[in-house]
Amino acid sequence: MDTLLRTHNRLELLHPLHQLSESHFLSPSPKPPNPNSWGFGKKPHRKWSKVASFRVSSSALLDLVPGTKTELLEFDLPMYDPSKALTLDLAVVGGGPAGLAVAQRVSEAGLSVVSIDPSPNLVWPNNYGVWVDEFEAMDLLDCLDATWPGAVVYVDERNTKLLGRPYARVNRRSLKSKMMRKCVENGVRFHRAKVVKVIHEEEKSFLICDDGITIEAAVVLDATGFSRCLVQYDKPYNPGYQVAYGILAEVEEHPFDLDKMLFMDWRDSHLKGNGELQERNRRIPTFLYAMPFSSTRIFLEETSLVARPGLAMGDIQERMEARLKHLGIKVKSIEEDERCVIPMGGPLPVLPQRVVGIGGTAGMVHPSTGYMVARTLAAAPVVADAIVRFLGSDRGLSGDALSAEVWKDLWPIERRRQREFFCFGMDILLKLDLEGTRRFFDAFFDLEPRYWHGFLSSRLFLPELVFFGLSLFSHASNTSRLEIMAKGTLPLVNMVNNLIRERD
Ligand SMILES: Cc1cc2nc3c(=O)[nH]c(=O)nc-3n(C[C@H](O)[C@H](O)[C@H](O)COP(=O)(O)OP(=O)(O)OC[C@H]3O[C@@H](n4cnc5c(N)ncnc54)[C@H](O)[C@@H]3O)c2cc1C
Repeated sequence: MDTLLRTHNRLELLHPLHQLSESHFLSPSPKPPNPNSWGFGKKPHRKWSKVASFRVSSSALLDLVPGTKTELLEFDLPMYDPSKALTLDLAVVGGGPAGLAVAQRVSEAGLSVVSIDPSPNLVWPNNYGVWVDEFEAMDLLDCLDATWPGAVVYVDERNTKLLGRPYARVNRRSLKSKMMRKCVENGVRFHRAKVVKVIHEEEKSFLICDDGITIEAAVVLDATGFSRCLVQYDKPYNPGYQVAYGILAEVEEHPFDLDKMLFMDWRDSHLKGNGELQERNRRIPTFLYAMPFSSTRIFLEETSLVARPGLAMGDIQERMEARLKHLGIKVKSIEEDERCVIPMGGPLPVLPQRVVGIGGTAGMVHPSTGYMVARTLAAAPVVADAIVRFLGSDRGLSGDALSAEVWKDLWPIERRRQREFFCFGMDILLKLDLEGTRRFFDAFFDLEPRYWHGFLSSRLFLPELVFFGLSLFSHASNTSRLEIMAKGTLPLVNMVNNLIRERD
């Protein structure tokens, strides 16, 4: 069976988003991006904006963005040898956190694995933030490079919430090094290329790479993040988008406590006197997220939690500049910046299908928050163990039957129901303006910690989620309740319909 996927289109469409963010960035009065202009379901990702043509000369802040920087891990990688033409047990396409976590675990069980990525030695570019308990549960505390004993949320000028839950920044170099080292020890082979096509036979698949090499494997795992290279979708792709602009900066000073990370700052006093910007923020609000490392070094990220279509990068940067000025934060230099466009919600891939998936490609981003890295790392053993179990001598499955079992373990019914609920949350958030958003988070962070912890970390399932919803409702102000009822009815009906379809 020759399955020529829409791979080419997908890969080509990786780039229009770059163009989109460039053009929006350069636009003097940015308009929200139209996701359709990105192609269906394309193609969000983080982007280093270190190319001179991206800069807006009128922006003092953006003029500080440094030139392109690539950080490499010094690993002597054992490379895949095409001359041997072996059929490997598993080919992992994509060397992000999701792909490497599975490659590591499957190879640990003695199976043969190849990891295919265009830049296997590159340090991951994203600034990952996680709750410490999530990484502790996976024995990954050694991969955190800064931790804060608590976090703070400014709901508005008068209402501040202190969250007693430690937060951390992931040391992406340590985490990737740790995974790569284990992969190397376990005999994983690496191939530096992009996969452009997959062809399936009954018991094995052939991956065609852009360097002309073909790799044979019994199982193919698509871990290409939001580029969704091989995994197929059969429903219109209509996610919300989280869009954020972040800088790791040296500043003269900043007003934030060093023992708290700033989880969300919804204050908008910086926009007073700029009616147009204030109105834009009233309709689709953005908040500041910050990780203060010292009194002069800080990661600052202006974030649109979720919008459809996603907010333009230039709009977010403009809001960030106004906010930093108001807070008296003078940026002396920028070490690195990140542009973040994360699709949230939307349909799951076709379940089951021959190629298995994990991470961004498999719909695993939290539809209400945009977080994913901890959930994916926790799910990697589930996917890996299913592959090992079903490929192993016990069950001896292959081809479609094996993939179906792996998908079943990754997206069991309770996880699909949980995701429906989170999508319902996203649909409500999409409809809230600044005041509605504030009321929502005011009630959310007043919940018992087990509820909001569990919601943010994907640890609540039905029926607990129903109690969570009721508890949120009972904590909400009357206005907020009315809002949830008015704006949540349609999403609720959709959720119930989807749940019924799932059950059937
Ligand atoms: C800027 C940014 C910040 C984020 N911050 C957080 C955060 O703080 N906390 C959190 O939980 N989540 C965060 N996320 C969401 C999510 O956790 C990350 O996107 C995460 O990197 C996804 O992991 P992944 O392994 O699925 O994909 P990726 O990390 O995107 O890795 C995919 C890999 O596949 C490779 N690839 C792509 N196409 C091909 C191909 N055709 N052939 C071979 N290789 C290919 C790519 O080169 C890449 O190395 C963030 C996302 C972004 C974009």
